[in-house]
Amino acid sequence: GKNEFSVFNEELKASHTESLALIADMRQAITLGQLEIYYQPQINIQTNTLVAAEALLRWNHPTLGQVSPVTFIPLAESSGQIINIGEWVINNVVKQIASWRHSLAQDFRVAINISPLQVRRGTLCSFLTRALAESNLTGDCLELEFTESLLIDNPKAVMEELTTIKAAGTSLSIDDFGTGYSSLSYLQNLDIESLKIDRSFVSHMTTNDKNLGIVKAIIQMSKELKLVTVAEGVEDLATLQLLAQLGCDFGQGYFWSKPLPANDFEVYVLDYAKN
Ligand code: C2E
Ligand code: CA
Ligand code: CA
Ligand code: CA
Repeated sequence: GKNEFSVFNEELKASHTESLALIADMRQAITLGQLEIYYQPQINIQTNTLVAAEALLRWNHPTLGQVSPVTFIPLAESSGQIINIGEWVINNVVKQIASWRHSLAQDFRVAINISPLQVRRGTLCSFLTRALAESNLTGDCLELEFTESLLIDNPKAVMEELTTIKAAGTSLSIDDFGTGYSSLSYLQNLDIESLKIDRSFVSHMTTNDKNLGIVKAIIQMSKELKLVTVAEGVEDLATLQLLAQLGCDFGQGYFWSKPLPANDFEVYVLDYAKN
């Protein structure tokens, strides 16, 4: 009815106004030091070793508290600020890795989430190269995670940019694998290192046969293609044991740890090595 419509319309307006306010606040988030990177461990579930971390962005908003990246990344993308923010993330992570040189294993890698807009711009590889050189690091300390949406239709410029990044030693990982609309043809043309099995499949695989079937199929295909599988959202021992039995390579999730502030992550790494 008419009332329902106007209520709906008011909510829409409120959320639109909120979005505009967030977009405006975001313009100062970097200079005011409100952005922070959290790190979540990735474990090799066959050897039980800590092999990598995913860098996850946090925005500590002065009045709203911590705003979720699920809310602000799409706004950063629609307003174009994802370029500056994405570059801030790369610089910050690279400096952090350099400062952790003595705590981390030689081959430890940090995975960074990359927005399609950062790749389509065509300057990502040169930006990465410069950031790494400034910290005396090489490309192999990083991994880039992007979703299949970037690869729809295999646009030539995107494929070239990713191939150059890969040639510099940085590995490429498909995030949320199986939830996009892309075909698998990019697996033929692009040197992908790993597939991250989406949490929506992993989280109910011990109770839901369809989810289990999908996880099994992804692991099987990855073995054929010599790809590494990373299971997201591992929250309990039963899921971990099943994944290990299926031959999944790496796991990430609350079972080990939530994403942690940098200092807490370093403590986690040092404790993990002791156990
Ligand atoms: P994502 O890349 O799929 O990241 C995984 C999300 O799952 C993270 O949410 C993480 O905190 C959460 N998670 C990890 N383990 C578990 C678990 O066991 N259970 C549950 N329920 N959740 C788990 P977060 O940190 O809120 O990030 C949300 C999304 O925001 C990310 O999804 C990614 O798409 C995006 N994002 C985060 N940081 C960045 C960034 O620096 N750049 C870009 N472009 N996107 C980012
Ligand atoms: Ca990710
Ligand atoms: Ca993911
Ligand atoms: Ca996800």
